[in-house]
Amino acid sequence: MSRGKVPVSHLYICAALAAILGLTFSFGRDVSEATTTLESNPPYAESDLDVRSGLAEPSPEFEATTAQVVVITPGENLSTIFQKQNLPPGDLQRILASGPLADRLHKVYPGHKLTFITEEDDDLVRFVYSSGPLERLIFERSGEAYEVRSEVKTPTIRAAFRHALIKHSLFVAGQRAGLEDPLIMRLEKIFQWDIDFLLDIRTGDEFSILFEELYLDDQLIDTGRILAAQFVNQGELHRAVLYTDSTGIDRFYSPDGESMRKDFLRAPLEFTRISSNFNLKRHHPLFKTSMPHRGIDYAAPVGTPVLAAGDGTVRIASRTHANGNYVVLRHGETFETKYLHLSRIARGIRGGTRVEQGKVIGYVGATGYATGPHLHYEFLVNGVHQNPRTVELPKAKPIPASERSRFEQSTAIILAQLDNHLSGQQVLAAR
Ligand SMILES: [Zn+2]
Repeated sequence: MSRGKVPVSHLYICAALAAILGLTFSFGRDVSEATTTLESNPPYAESDLDVRSGLAEPSPEFEATTAQVVVITPGENLSTIFQKQNLPPGDLQRILASGPLADRLHKVYPGHKLTFITEEDDDLVRFVYSSGPLERLIFERSGEAYEVRSEVKTPTIRAAFRHALIKHSLFVAGQRAGLEDPLIMRLEKIFQWDIDFLLDIRTGDEFSILFEELYLDDQLIDTGRILAAQFVNQGELHRAVLYTDSTGIDRFYSPDGESMRKDFLRAPLEFTRISSNFNLKRHHPLFKTSMPHRGIDYAAPVGTPVLAAGDGTVRIASRTHANGNYVVLRHGETFETKYLHLSRIARGIRGGTRVEQGKVIGYVGATGYATGPHLHYEFLVNGVHQNPRTVELPKAKPIPASERSRFEQSTAIILAQLDNHLSGQQVLAAR
């Protein structure tokens, strides 16, 4: 939500501009008149909401007001910020007591914005809290107390399309196409069951993405949902489309209604590399003998979260000399997954605990027989070790029959939009 916010520096510029204008006007006039002139002709852009609201609505008793904008930084809280503003602690107490809306102030986070409007005598006449460009709470001084109201804005949503050809990496290609990393990570999550983003990406792969952009007053403020995407990986086409079911839940499906999600993650951790592959005739680096490697080693920094590969129950969460800290999960009758050499097991993970796919069960370490920090991961089908990279993963449920016609109607529109953009893309490429 960083784009579209009024940068503090911008505000300072406005304040400086106001000061200069004020000075200019103050020759031969008194200051309060100069302020009035300024208020009726604000030199700010439309988007400078807080400055405008602070100064543009003249109030008879505002002789001269100052707007101070504070963006909350990590470690700060409201009372320390009020202190730094040299405001009496009573102001914050009165603001917090202004009504149920004020409860929101108990959950302020870094990046949220506070605007302090004080009168010449340092009295806080207005306090504005905003968690982003779409919402703000306005606390207005009224006698000894404050009155609170909220303002919510509805953004305009527009569909945007981007296409990228991969030359070096997925992220570089995405950035060149004007996509921010979090969006590329969401794209990766959609296809993670079909494409191994650690190993399978090649030069010449390409992807296209249709997604929502949120606008406020014609200004881009945020990225919304991904509506559809396709990925051509080593010549193979993968497509996904968003479907909001009749209960309001968003899920990605292939165009024919298969779930993009599978019952197991291909890899139980993110951002890593494989240091030792599944190999039943491996020469063991510690024991210098031929020992089968019945799993995959993922090298990753100590502390990298290890995720449950699928929904299941913890069978073992314990420690042995060889395994170090380890977890074994049971997934129904057929499947079992094992996670070895953890630096520690996540809180709450013990025998019998139910876990969902993607839940953090522990952290990468080098406990037990390990030459360095890595996760040793095993995947067992009916008690037999399988290569988790190549085993056929059971699919999650396809679109239910009751949703089928609704699914087809809604996704046909989105896919037509994607195809439209793609054919435009081809015309461009043919030139
Ligand atoms: Zn291993």
